[in-house]
Amino acid sequence: MNICLNSHENDILPDLKEVIAYISEARAVGLSQDEIISELIKVGWPNGAIRSAFAQLLKVPYPHTHNQIELGPNQPIIEVKNLTKKYGNFTAVDNISFSVQPGETFGILGPNGAGKTTTMEMIEGLKSISGGTILVDNKNVAHQSHDVKSVIGVQLQASSFFDGLNLKELITTFASMYNRTVDPMELLEEVQLSDKADSQVKELSGGQKQRLSIAVGLVNDPKILFLDEPTTGLDPQARHNLWDLVTSIKNRGKTIVITTHYMDEAEVLCDRIAIMDHARIVALDTTHNLLHSIGIDTSIEFKSGMIIQPEILRVISGVETFSSEDGTYTITTKQPKETLDGLFTASRQYKFDIDQLTMKRATLEDVFLKLTGHQLRD
Ligand code: ADP
Repeated sequence: MNICLNSHENDILPDLKEVIAYISEARAVGLSQDEIISELIKVGWPNGAIRSAFAQLLKVPYPHTHNQIELGPNQPIIEVKNLTKKYGNFTAVDNISFSVQPGETFGILGPNGAGKTTTMEMIEGLKSISGGTILVDNKNVAHQSHDVKSVIGVQLQASSFFDGLNLKELITTFASMYNRTVDPMELLEEVQLSDKADSQVKELSGGQKQRLSIAVGLVNDPKILFLDEPTTGLDPQARHNLWDLVTSIKNRGKTIVITTHYMDEAEVLCDRIAIMDHARIVALDTTHNLLHSIGIDTSIEFKSGMIIQPEILRVISGVETFSSEDGTYTITTKQPKETLDGLFTASRQYKFDIDQLTMKRATLEDVFLKLTGHQLRD
């Protein structure tokens, strides 16, 4: 590319017009933001000037992005449009769009390799975007990643923590990176680690490390907390503890975006779920709607020593289908509670016994199977 760029190493107050003109031309010929910034740094432009230039430039296409605007009730805090990520010829995220409302817990559910982490890291501004746009709290991630970072909290992996510091010191250190002063004990209390305040990370269990990484993600009091597979590898008790913690953070009004390949986790924690498979979103809705929209029913199975006439079962509230084989009866229903009530009422009225009753509720696993033709955990 042949764009003229003068050195400004010694300028105290550089004229931004030149750098703005450079950025415009460089973007027009397809240079990425990272490439433009590295060119500008190479010739000595100070970071602040580069940021101001980007900010001034973006006032035109995004007039609101530089004035802090309070989000209205229906204005999303995250808006992802036609987002794509390519690695060479491989498409890891393929033209996905969704938005997240303030205060919502939004899940991205899918098998390994579906593109969940890549999506999340692009929203966080940690990975570059091949196509599409992302607005976070009204800021365009591609051009204002610095501003975006101040409103988001990211759960770091335990391996990113410095050796030799205790938990209190770690929290204080991370807070200082955001120019913040926090009370480390308050944060440790919140994640139920106050009794470990003087311990080092290597002395913590897997679940405790995950809770610490959430505490670190909260040091800048973010509007949005991102959790990437937070319970992978944890035992059931530690998983449930972490779910309680996530719920308490949600109840404080934080927006949470969580990736997981555990359907039960998504069901318990998320208000809405985007189901991803092979780089695309195959469904996006509330758990309730996902389970009901594709017509998967709950099945109720029981044994009886008596022969039950089909007419008796057919009229029970909610019953969709029924079958019987060797004294085992199977009913499917969209209204499990009403159907169970009706079944017990009928058993008293027609005096048939009910034995070994089991109920299998439709799960997100069933939804995933129906939508994709394969299991969530192949
Ligand atoms: P998930 O989080 O759903 O398990 P990822 O977003 O980590 O999936 O990965 C999506 C796909 O992109 C995978 O096939 C993965 O191998 C591929 N991928 C991720 N990072 C890179 C990379 N840096 N280079 C090439 N391929 C990558």
